[in-house]
Amino acid sequence: MRRLFASFLCLCLLLISCSIFQPSATPPPPGPDALKTPWEDRSIFKAGLVASEQSVLDELDTASIYHIEFKIADDLYHVTGTEEVKYTNAETTPLNEVRFRLFPNILGGEMTISNLKVGGQSVTPKYELEESVMTVPFSSALEPNQSLIIQMEFAVTVPQTLESNYGVLAYAEDVLALAHAYPMITVYDDEGWNAEIPPESGDVTYADASFYIVRVSAPKDVVLVTSGHEISHYEAGQVQTSVVASGPARDFYLVASPRYEEVSQTFGEVTIRSYAPRRFRDGAQMALEVASQAIEDFSAHYAPYPYTEFDIVSTPTLALGIEYPGMIAITSRIYDVSRDYRGTPASVYMESTVAHEAGHQWFYNLVGDDQLDDPWLDEALTQFATLQYYADEYGVDGEEGFRKSLEGRWASVENALTPIGLPVAAYSGQEYGAIVYGRGPLFFVAMRDEMGKEVFDQFIKDYTESLSWDIATPEKLKTIAEEHCSCDLTTLFEEWVY
Ligand SMILES: [Zn+2]
Repeated sequence: MRRLFASFLCLCLLLISCSIFQPSATPPPPGPDALKTPWEDRSIFKAGLVASEQSVLDELDTASIYHIEFKIADDLYHVTGTEEVKYTNAETTPLNEVRFRLFPNILGGEMTISNLKVGGQSVTPKYELEESVMTVPFSSALEPNQSLIIQMEFAVTVPQTLESNYGVLAYAEDVLALAHAYPMITVYDDEGWNAEIPPESGDVTYADASFYIVRVSAPKDVVLVTSGHEISHYEAGQVQTSVVASGPARDFYLVASPRYEEVSQTFGEVTIRSYAPRRFRDGAQMALEVASQAIEDFSAHYAPYPYTEFDIVSTPTLALGIEYPGMIAITSRIYDVSRDYRGTPASVYMESTVAHEAGHQWFYNLVGDDQLDDPWLDEALTQFATLQYYADEYGVDGEEGFRKSLEGRWASVENALTPIGLPVAAYSGQEYGAIVYGRGPLFFVAMRDEMGKEVFDQFIKDYTESLSWDIATPEKLKTIAEEHCSCDLTTLFEEWVY
């Protein structure tokens, strides 16, 4: 059987003066106010995690805890909100400030901040990098393991075009895709506060695993889909309010559309929900089926899928797909699975895209990395996971077919020996796809050949489990691999990575 493999790239300023539309006032849902949950009480996150993952709630002591309110206006592209976050200094040195990313300011929209307070005291922040970084000063140094509370209000204007970064943040074709639309704390690592303007291609975030309690209010007639597990849902007048708990997770994503319909199915502890307009029902069903197989495969090979829910949403994004914690967005352009897309059956794109984006739940969310400086740690490894999916689902022929598609990608740059381990910004547009998504996964094939399949499989499982909710680096990956093979992989890494 000849299979076709789509060649694809996933991820994975025009400033509009901000006129604020307030949705009609709505009371919070009955019962205790989830946004006032005591910081140390993590029981609210339990229902969103599979049983084997719940022990993580007693760990991750220094993870940030976000309490966020989003109010989505009737026009669906103005969003106002509040954020209260408990930040803990997880470093070994005192910190004098914390930096937040205001991503809408570099994603074609606008984000403004007001009423900023640290420990209840008003402070004046400093803005940098096209206002995408907000530095919040502390009145005295925050010692290691000490925490403080930062509060603010924010307003977001969502762009109504798909021009910026594949339309990850956009209101278009009746879909609000609200990506990275709250003030997000930057990772502090060996570079210090690690923030840069992301290149045009590639993912924009680099984040630590955190906890999120989020209350969203939106017009009643839209279907709301979010990261995490819904705690309560309440309607009053024309407004619906949903309270969600999510975490550990590296981001919080939300979409809303009046046109979504849901197909869903529960497999073991995990419920998969797939959302698309009615005319794309077959595509939504196919996405659900591919995701269920991929989650089963990757859970067996790497680590259990951590959450009790997985959502797939169709959006008009110009990427084929984009990953978020517990959710993936797939472009609506490949949902008509009985037709061709760019000369290839859309079903072929659907299968490889969903398998790839599902793979990011392990390599991006569970095991984090600097997606701008080390994109191969999430993209090349996720492509290798996709190869694993085809091997599991279709045997040798499936693996062979997908491997040929990877070789084809690399061949598009004449098999250049460009290292796979460069930052996104170091590649040209075509090189990025060919090297990181083509040559990158072939490196893991070469590594498997050198280590032996059994040892490699043990290594990749150990890599995933030991770095769960942590940040991987190329050095950590190499060290864990060498521990497993009791060998020196320096030559192999020099040939492919550096
Ligand atoms: Zn990807």
